[in-house]
Amino acid sequence: MIGFFDTKIEFLKGVGPQRGALLGSELGIFTYGHLIQYYPFRYEDRTRFYKIAEINDQMNFIQVTGRIRYLETVGPPRRQRLVAYFGDGTGEIQLVWFKGLQWIIKKLRTNIDYVVFGKPGRIGKYINIAHPEMEPLTTKNEQGGYLQPVYSTTEKLKARYLDSKTIAKFQRTLTGLAFRQIHETLPPDLVQQYRLLPKNQAISNIHYPENQQLLAQARYRLKFEELFFIQLRLLKLKLTRRERFKGIIFNNADLLTDFYHHHLPFELTNAQKKVIKEIYRDMRSGSQMNRLLQGDVGSGKTIVAFICMLIAIGNGAQAAMMAPTEILANQHYDGLKGYAEKMGLNIALLTGSSKTAERRDIHERLLEGSLHILVGTHALLEDVVQFQNLGLAVIDEQHRFGVAQRAKLWRKNEHTYPHVLVMTATPIPRTLAMTLYGDLDVSVIDELPAGRKPIKTIHHYDANRLKVFGFLKQQIELGRQVYVVYPLIEESAKIDLKHLEDGYESISRAFPDYAISIVHGKMKADAKEYEMNRFVKGETKIMVATTVIEVGVNVPNATVMVIENAERFGLAQLHQLRGRVGRGGDQSYCILMSDYKLSKEAKTRIKTMVTTTDGFVIADTDLKLRGPGDISGTQQSGLTDLTIADLSQDSEILQQARKAAQRILDDDPELKTAKNANILLQINRQKKNELNWSRIS
Ligand code: ADP
Ligand code: MG
Repeated sequence: MIGFFDTKIEFLKGVGPQRGALLGSELGIFTYGHLIQYYPFRYEDRTRFYKIAEINDQMNFIQVTGRIRYLETVGPPRRQRLVAYFGDGTGEIQLVWFKGLQWIIKKLRTNIDYVVFGKPGRIGKYINIAHPEMEPLTTKNEQGGYLQPVYSTTEKLKARYLDSKTIAKFQRTLTGLAFRQIHETLPPDLVQQYRLLPKNQAISNIHYPENQQLLAQARYRLKFEELFFIQLRLLKLKLTRRERFKGIIFNNADLLTDFYHHHLPFELTNAQKKVIKEIYRDMRSGSQMNRLLQGDVGSGKTIVAFICMLIAIGNGAQAAMMAPTEILANQHYDGLKGYAEKMGLNIALLTGSSKTAERRDIHERLLEGSLHILVGTHALLEDVVQFQNLGLAVIDEQHRFGVAQRAKLWRKNEHTYPHVLVMTATPIPRTLAMTLYGDLDVSVIDELPAGRKPIKTIHHYDANRLKVFGFLKQQIELGRQVYVVYPLIEESAKIDLKHLEDGYESISRAFPDYAISIVHGKMKADAKEYEMNRFVKGETKIMVATTVIEVGVNVPNATVMVIENAERFGLAQLHQLRGRVGRGGDQSYCILMSDYKLSKEAKTRIKTMVTTTDGFVIADTDLKLRGPGDISGTQQSGLTDLTIADLSQDSEILQQARKAAQRILDDDPELKTAKNANILLQINRQKKNELNWSRIS
């Protein structure tokens, strides 16, 4: 069945086959449905006229009426510009043209009234508007009174006269035709409760707002709807999983109690206790656990993971932990081994470099059940790795693993899925977490162990390098170690590598008495590993590196992190890097080195780093600066397909939408009642032609 919205765009009046094809290839607009959901990205306010005396160069687009007093061409021959002195009795501004001067001169008159529209700027003491839109004043435009939609378009489209105005015209035609075809997609009681505009009014006001207030309502309605359906899907997925995937019930706590009474190495923080309680509740519930554990670097996730493993093992099951790199797997293994040995449990490490004989032994002991804990890299995912009874799978550093890999680990058990605990040290703002991991339950360790000294973060310009070197020397003489990190990105890899090597040389010259390691992504894996280990063992005092050390490495004796060209790093990365220090009891430092010239954003990033160590504050700022599309791991999540909602702006709407979705599912989990019929219809419609939702879970 072909519905109205499936009509090919070429059939819309004024479009035709050629422009239709272009709209498809340039903007992905193939059907009426696509076009009507191609929303303006801003609106030009033609609802009021300003007086020239009111205008300043900070304003956005404005509209004035007046007359040209005088026209002149100024500047050297090849860089001429046309200046019109334009006044309205309250003041005068300059209208400036750099292109098409001859044509414009012929058109402009000094003896008639114009409506001028544009964005004010400033040259010297004069307010100007460059390349303004101008129309003779008529009784029609004198009344003003509309918000003109602006659609983004491309050079190729513009060359075929498909500019914003033309698209607006198409929208005008289409919204007229479509009005009766647009059905309500939300349940009536929800529309009423949140005082939402009906869908058809929202669509027509998003393209042609009658006034500011209706525009705001239209935007709210469409954002709400978009986020509502995402949340509904995620929550429904979670619900289905809870019902369908039975979890192994672990209710024997003897082993746990034994550990608490005799082997606990330190008092747990309240946050650790809280999340252990949440996890334990899941593991006894009879449903499979799917929980995300968020905790900033150093918040003590390892012991939490171990305690959860004890719950599984105490009930006769096995536990696995998977890390994204070999170094990390090694460190987890070292960290867990101590605890495991104290408890008389068997633990093994499986990575790409495990020897064949060793592997075989591990496989056997896993199958017969004598191996309690297996730590490793994605080597764990190989089919030959079979457990007797895997009860808990812990996955560290989520975003490095694909969703498919996560699922593979689940399927390690034949009868029942193991409980899954995903741990991440990448702070994710609440809004993003709700969307990215909306199908997982979330626990947060929001407290660091007592006695930690907050890392001091300092910003220095490159010119201060000698002073910084002096400070490093002091620290090394105190017995500490230092990281110096350089940016290295694919696009400028050659130059970056050179900077790194130059840096290594100048540091070697400045610190002749100390051994220095260098590690970067272009080195062979074993060479990297070797250098890394020298640093871990304390044989080298300074580690010069690229961001390969970003994730998880734990050298408590390293107390200084110097980040070169700090302006080139994103906030999340800076925070991750800083997390490499401050892991022991000593005061740690993060030194951000930069050029004098900094962009506004770079300044904000550096200032944020200097003023806070709170990962969530940093993640929020990052989201605001960059938008959600760039945050690691979100590209593949479908989040960039949002048509109107913006996760960096709309967290409040998201929360309302999630609450509404939850309430509806609580009432009517199958969405079977008549009042929810709209929802079911819409879900089926979306399923037919939309995002591949399997990408999100
Ligand atoms: P992360 O969350 O970054 O993985 P870790 O689990 O590696 O953090 O813990 C960082 C350090 O803090 C480790 O040396 C660990 O032994 C220690 N630690 C964890 N929890 C506590 C606590 N409650 N009290 C004191 N030290 C703790
Ligand atoms: Mg860790």
